Amino acid sequence: MSEHEEFLLENSFEKFRASQIFTHLYKHRFQSFSEFFLVSQELRNFLNENFIINSLFPENIQYSKDGTTKFLFRLNDGAAIESVLIPAETLDEDPKLKRLTLCVSSQVGCALNCSFCATGKLGYKRNLEPSEIVDQVLQVEKETQKKISNIVFMGMGEPLHNLENVVKAIDILSNSVSKIISRKKITISTAGIVPKIIELADIPKPVKLAISLHSTTNGVRQKIMPIAKKWNIQDLRKSIVEYYRKTNIPITYEYILFDGLNNSLDDAKRLAKFSRTVPSKVNIIPFHDISFTNPTGFAKDLKPASRDQIQKFVEQLKHLGVNVYVRTSSGEDIDAACGQLAYSIKS
Ligand code: SAH
Repeated sequence: MSEHEEFLLENSFEKFRASQIFTHLYKHRFQSFSEFFLVSQELRNFLNENFIINSLFPENIQYSKDGTTKFLFRLNDGAAIESVLIPAETLDEDPKLKRLTLCVSSQVGCALNCSFCATGKLGYKRNLEPSEIVDQVLQVEKETQKKISNIVFMGMGEPLHNLENVVKAIDILSNSVSKIISRKKITISTAGIVPKIIELADIPKPVKLAISLHSTTNGVRQKIMPIAKKWNIQDLRKSIVEYYRKTNIPITYEYILFDGLNNSLDDAKRLAKFSRTVPSKVNIIPFHDISFTNPTGFAKDLKPASRDQIQKFVEQLKHLGVNVYVRTSSGEDIDAACGQLAYSIKS
């Protein structure tokens, strides 16, 4: 029995009402309980007294000249998160595929404190509820009147630090009644929370996994990602092997290219070797400026690789047989690019 069915029974309603409520919420997307035509007036009143439908309020929408749109959502407790809508053209994908990707947040802030990431500078505030994750998708579709085709958990937060709620949200979004999005079109991106990667491999109908790798040596990784001190590259590799063995889904590696830190020929060779562990692709990401966070220490010295350096590194990887792509800087002019989220909304 689902937790919703249990809850209804405890409150003297039939358990089959759960699926009717679900249909009203996610298929019809009603905005008020008074529209729930399948259920009794008594249940409508009960829902009205105990729940609210919208958990997010779209407070601000910014449009980038490259087609990216950033949504600032205010949550019921006053906290704020952001979601970013990225059209296929911006990601250099074939426009014929009509892909529309939504980058969603999984937490308010983030506990990881990666030195290159603006969200990390906010610190961890709280996990998002499943409804707050789902509502990012519903609200963006409502505002834009467009259908989202892909979801990536690459907004604020570390999704594997909020795995239970992220999986609940995915279950709602991909449910056979809501049919909002197929699980094959959902990607969870992680900095490398090893035991949770293994846990994620065991969920029914798993999703795509992206690993924020950024370096293949423990030394450099530990400098820029504190979490790498807890789980080193060897542990991470083992968990990736396990994920692929259980799911058969190729892995995506994200690799921010920094000038002089992780862009040597040896880095390319190590990355090529690492990427051959299981079927995979590598996304090279240009480092997006986060100087607006006034970085200190090691973060202050991080420099983006130049266009030529990126091209050279990519050529080396291609030569080594790597399936490699360069991610363009979506929405950089509106601070919507990776790692730039939510610094404008500290208040
Ligand atoms: N915590 C998750 C998801 C959020 S970050 C993770 O670490 O994967 C999404 C992606 O943006 C990650 O690959 C992250 O490393 C990258 N990113 C963060 N800050 C960035 C920056 N300033 N420039 C470019 N990419 C950045």
